[in-house]
Amino acid sequence: MHLDLYETKPRHERTFREPNERVKDFEPFMNALSMEEFIEETKRCMSCGLCFDCGNCFTYCSHGAVKKLPKGQHYEFHLETCDGCMKCFENCPCGYIEKM
Ligand code: SF4
Ligand code: SF4
Repeated sequence: MHLDLYETKPRHERTFREPNERVKDFEPFMNALSMEEFIEETKRCMSCGLCFDCGNCFTYCSHGAVKKLPKGQHYEFHLETCDGCMKCFENCPCGYIEKM
């Protein structure tokens, strides 16, 4: 993982119902996130170990060894043109590309 490549976004903390309210029913004691907060939380996912199609490997490879595939299939590496510069590894945020 290269954490410096991620934007820092604060967590949306859950809030709690007041105790004198909680004793009146069996509803959850934690308040739910709003839909907007929920969507913002999903954007904090770092996609650890899985390609999330950021395109950094494609952008940084100056040898044309990374080929873009149709949407949803991400990228393909052509090692016959790779010179081992490791720019793709250094700029892959989530650890999907491993150093050999
Ligand atoms: S190591 Fe360098 S040349 Fe090889 S795929 Fe990665 S960026 Fe391209
Ligand atoms: S840099 Fe990593 S996460 Fe980004 S597209 Fe390439 S393999 Fe996927």
